[in-house]
Amino acid sequence: NTQVLLASRPTGEPIPENFDIVQSPIPEAGEGEIVVRTIYLSIDPYMRGRMDDAKSYAASVQIGDVMTGGVVGQVVQSRNPKFSEGDFVLGMFGWQSFSVSDGSLVRKLDPAVAPISTAVGVLGMPGLTAYVGLLDIGEPKPGDTVVVAAASGAVGSVVGQIAKIKGCRVVGIAGPADKCAYVMEELGFDACVSHRSETLKTDLEKACPDGIDVYFENVGGKVFAAVLPLMNDFGRIPVCGLIANYNLTELPPGPDMSARVMRNILTKRLKIQGFIVTDRYDRFPAFEKEVGGWIRDGSLKYREDIIEGLENAPAALIGVLAGRNFGKMLVRVSDD
Ligand code: NDP
Repeated sequence: NTQVLLASRPTGEPIPENFDIVQSPIPEAGEGEIVVRTIYLSIDPYMRGRMDDAKSYAASVQIGDVMTGGVVGQVVQSRNPKFSEGDFVLGMFGWQSFSVSDGSLVRKLDPAVAPISTAVGVLGMPGLTAYVGLLDIGEPKPGDTVVVAAASGAVGSVVGQIAKIKGCRVVGIAGPADKCAYVMEELGFDACVSHRSETLKTDLEKACPDGIDVYFENVGGKVFAAVLPLMNDFGRIPVCGLIANYNLTELPPGPDMSARVMRNILTKRLKIQGFIVTDRYDRFPAFEKEVGGWIRDGSLKYREDIIEGLENAPAALIGVLAGRNFGKMLVRVSDD
């Protein structure tokens, strides 16, 4: 059994030495337990936070522990009456090729309904994040301008497509030109600007001639600074993620922007609300029905970026934090 452990806590960007790859015997199921073979390991930005010691909304991974992570796998041994050998399942089994579980918080997947990999992507946690953040907090109305950062990614791509379905003008923000081309040509966004451009502020202004009604925040930093002056009165900002900050070791240099930020919130009567998707699984049935329907009828598309082999999981996480993924990042650990 291959396992990836947290070897040390990163300072800034994670490095391969922060991870240890070890071998251990394949676990055996005890009474009431199942053994799961990992097929896909999901790689998500939140994993960076789990590598730190800092207090947050979820517990840190301890040094020497298996890295935490969502997994799609197959039951290879069952001593739990709710599961049979061969069942496809979703669970937080971590960065390892086999795991043992008592079956609690494990969901069975039907491969006839959707490809099993989507259970950690468009039909799983990132898709639900997009759905509740945009619809429940962003409250988009037809004709609104919706801007979404990390636009080609697991969350952003779903945000933009739902906003289009709801009749909004959608502007993406992404890094490289190929990601911008993808969200416009494949996903139907109205425009996309690059956060790498020297002229980000004016590019965004041109792409949003009527200002911005909803900004779905995935990034923070200079992207937020470019968006804020363009927000319209009564605009909404669901704060989903701040990936530009995850590798920071201290506050960025420069002037304290809080006075400007607060003045914008006050005078424009903005609604800014952070949210954590794990609080919102009450919305899962509605999400699954609606987004599942859009995928089946072709009105919502998704893209996966799959790398082979558990030993490449550290590089995959380092890559997501540096924007090297193109679509939902997955590690294929064994055959499906
Ligand atoms: P993505 O698939 O979007 O991958 C991350 C992308 O972020 C990269 O590909 C890159 O795209 C972009 N990025 C990375 N660094 C920067 C930077 N410095 N400036 C601008 N863009 C950057 O990841 P997810 O869709 O899984 O996650 C998107 C966001 O949603 C993250 O912030 C994540 O933490 C958050 N999230 C929050 C949840 C919640 O419950 N609140 C749940 C799930 C996700 P590019 O090349 O275009 O720059």
